[in-house]
Amino acid sequence: MTRSIRPLVAGNWKMNGLKADLAIAADIAKGYDAELKAAVDLALCPPASLLASASDALRGSHIASGGQDCSTQDLGAFTGEISAAMLADAGASFAIVGHSERRTLHGETDAAVKAKAQAALKAALVPIVCVGETKDEREAGRAVAVVTGQLHGSLPEAATAATLVVAYEPVWAIGTGLTPTAADVAEMHAAIRAELGLLLGDEEAAGVRLLYGGSVKPSNAAELMNVTHVDGALVGGASLKAEDFLAIARACA
Ligand code: PEP
Repeated sequence: MTRSIRPLVAGNWKMNGLKADLAIAADIAKGYDAELKAAVDLALCPPASLLASASDALRGSHIASGGQDCSTQDLGAFTGEISAAMLADAGASFAIVGHSERRTLHGETDAAVKAKAQAALKAALVPIVCVGETKDEREAGRAVAVVTGQLHGSLPEAATAATLVVAYEPVWAIGTGLTPTAADVAEMHAAIRAELGLLLGDEEAAGVRLLYGGSVKPSNAAELMNVTHVDGALVGGASLKAEDFLAIARACA
């Protein structure tokens, strides 16, 4: 962790969750006690269909909500897309952009991710910009180069520590149960912080929350969250179980 940075644990529900699953959000809100509130920020990113009702369910809990993606466009003839302003209107404060599932399954380029991050900022949302290497890229010794390259291409203009979150999510660790070693996470997060220094200036870079994501569970959260420059987690599968998500939050506190 970085002592001067308040950690953030964000849950990405992906394409999971029906109305009945708002009970999970309610249970997380119930478990977000005074001790946790004093130590760590929480956010939940449900599917778009549940965003407004999840935001309502979380009202008063101090838990934020977010979208999982947003359009590069403000409005218009873009069937199936959701704009950043729509996410904000549904109660969101964050928008995940550039998740590896979007980059891989929907061919999103760094330029598209950057445009989405800019759209999020324009709607007063904080983009959670995801970056991460594939297994082949890591095995070829190119992990740091790939991730710093993604940062260069994907970060919005004029981001500040208060308006940007970066999530390092090795593609091979997402949903697989595999995680990098603490030393590999430390190396990557230090490289990300240094690269942000070049892009935003050292003062802003020092305050940006750098999340680790990829198979974070209660059993490995303490080790991962203890790594220098890890300021919280982006949690997929484990965010669908209130007890697991809260245990990860406790590991940050
Ligand atoms: C994710 O989808 O952002 C993620 C980190 O998933 P999981 O925790 O399930 O690996």
